[in-house]
Amino acid sequence: MSAEGKTGRWCGCLLCRVGDEQTMKELRDGGAQGPEWEWVAAHLVDYALRVLHHQHARQTLAREANTHRRAAHLHPVVLAPEDAQALDADPAQPTALFVATCTTALDRFRRIDLLGGHWRPGGRRVPGYYVTRCYFVLGDELTTWRRARTKERKVAAAAYRLAEEDERLGGRDVVEDLRQVDPAVVGALVETMREPLREATRYRLDHPDATWAAAARALHVSPRVIEAQLRRWRRSRRREGER
Ligand SMILES: [Zn+2]
Repeated sequence: MSAEGKTGRWCGCLLCRVGDEQTMKELRDGGAQGPEWEWVAAHLVDYALRVLHHQHARQTLAREANTHRRAAHLHPVVLAPEDAQALDADPAQPTALFVATCTTALDRFRRIDLLGGHWRPGGRRVPGYYVTRCYFVLGDELTTWRRARTKERKVAAAAYRLAEEDERLGGRDVVEDLRQVDPAVVGALVETMREPLREATRYRLDHPDATWAAAARALHVSPRVIEAQLRRWRRSRRREGER
């Protein structure tokens, strides 16, 4: 008995040993659990992952999926240009999407098609049939994947903004300069600052690793206020130095 022609693999699972009809009957009788089921499940997921990756690489995935989705009266999936871009930019992205798709589809296949008796002999062979189940859940999985991507982008953007704030507030670091000054003088210098810059500076003097952004967060003030005050304070110190 040959395994799926497309993979050309013979893994020794029930499907490969005794064929579709016998496999489905034996698995159903056994409650679709245990090593035989796991082995068949591994064969199916392995096959479907190859098909999905292959179709994605050939840019035929949405078309293939929609042919089957339309027949089942499901709305077509649409891969927007930004989806395609995100999927192409990082190989981990299509893998994450397709693994999630195969996992959800496997659960449904087990409950509905195998135990529920929805799969019937004489129709589509089991691995191909399972791939159509992957197409059916692909729409929802795509939505979930997009949400996760949006969240990732927001987190990355927030981290970037914080880094940018530190960068803008950086340059020559006033607090590092103050650390070099006689402690008796520091108090007097800090007194010349306005709030909340004064408090933020004291915070940083007390917390050697803290950045301006961290001080602003700790004091619940806007980093921009500190940035503006710092610029003004530097200008005023420079003017005094010039006198
Ligand atoms: Zn097999």
